[in-house]
Amino acid sequence: MTKRTLFDLAKAKSARPPAPSPSRGGGAVAPEFWRTKTLAQMNEAEWEALCDGCGKCCVISLEDADTGVLYRTDVACKVFDTATCGCSDYPNRKKKAPDCVKLTPKNVPKLDWLPPTCAYRLVAEGRDLYWWHYLISGDRESVHIAQASARNKTRPEGRLKIPGLMKRIVDWPEPLAEPPTQPRKKR
Ligand code: SF4
Ligand code: SF4
Repeated sequence: MTKRTLFDLAKAKSARPPAPSPSRGGGAVAPEFWRTKTLAQMNEAEWEALCDGCGKCCVISLEDADTGVLYRTDVACKVFDTATCGCSDYPNRKKKAPDCVKLTPKNVPKLDWLPPTCAYRLVAEGRDLYWWHYLISGDRESVHIAQASARNKTRPEGRLKIPGLMKRIVDWPEPLAEPPTQPRKKR
């Protein structure tokens, strides 16, 4: 089987960080809400707080239409800013990237292209967050230190079509299983 045959019917997919849902209202963030609430039970503040900022949902994956196997590329949505690891124009994202998908409690369990480390996916699967999530570590840099983010690891989509994207399939690094030990200070 050639590459071309394999990917003939392939679809490019990229997921997007969640958008606030006005129907949930604001609300305070309850302690350890991700362990006690389902996605549907979270208020808007909790829903937004759940995102770890990894940016991996803005990276394009290719799906083999025959087998359903996903291949992750190092190409990000054209609106993604790899240096800040975030959307460069969130309010206008749908205009700039019409296929940008808004995450909801209903669609998260169905979006197989969300990275397995995505906090929404983890909660939907009844799992706990990883050590690097800032809600656990208290540090928003942890996700980058753990190599669990897309920061500075992507190139923009530009005019790449499927054949060009196929050349950009990469193995993303496995996130660190635990925090790196700090080098001892010299006395
Ligand atoms: S946790 Fe990461 S993958 Fe999930 S929505 Fe936030 S940025 Fe995207
Ligand atoms: S438009 Fe923004 S939020 Fe949507 S995929 Fe692109 S970078 Fe991510």
